Amino acid sequence: MEQKIPKTGILVDEVMSRNVIKIRHDQTIDEAALLMKKQQVGSLIVIDEKDNPIGIITDRDIVVRVLAKKLDPSKTKVKDVMSKPLFTVNSKTDIGEIALKMRKYRVRRFGVIEKGKLIGIITDRNIFAITPEILELTSEKAKLLAEAEEMEESLAPPESSTGYCDECEEWSDNLKYVNGRYLCEDCRSREEFE
Ligand SMILES: [Zn+2]
Repeated sequence: MEQKIPKTGILVDEVMSRNVIKIRHDQTIDEAALLMKKQQVGSLIVIDEKDNPIGIITDRDIVVRVLAKKLDPSKTKVKDVMSKPLFTVNSKTDIGEIALKMRKYRVRRFGVIEKGKLIGIITDRNIFAITPEILELTSEKAKLLAEAEEMEESLAPPESSTGYCDECEEWSDNLKYVNGRYLCEDCRSREEFE
């Protein structure tokens, strides 16, 4: 069924943003907003003390989760507002597949991984800005294909995410969503045998 996923011939690393700006999880929203403005980015990758990417925070998160709730941005921490875990995709994935994943899983930003390292961010805007026609074609095709059941099966969820396992609380760059929780590889295999 693979051939049913629309291929654009354009890979993630050709259109992603390489401007990955990081912020520590224990920094404040004030600091995050300032950094976004200074670096002219709409999102920051959130890292922990060990430099592991554990989530993402966007300008919209700040508006919706801090300002609209009248929280004090000088006292609110990034970790309390960020989205986690950070969903990741491989740098050599076709953007047609990414566009479909964004639609299906309602995720607008993915961390881009190459050889186990975070090298970029791909957003719906990146894809749309560079390939509006292709994206349109892709969505038209997707709509038709989504009606076919095999389409749903052929579209794998975002391969993995980085973050902390909900079970053992260990860091993992291969988290997967299982029954409402994000689990590392070890905990997933344990769960299968229970
Ligand atoms: Zn675990």
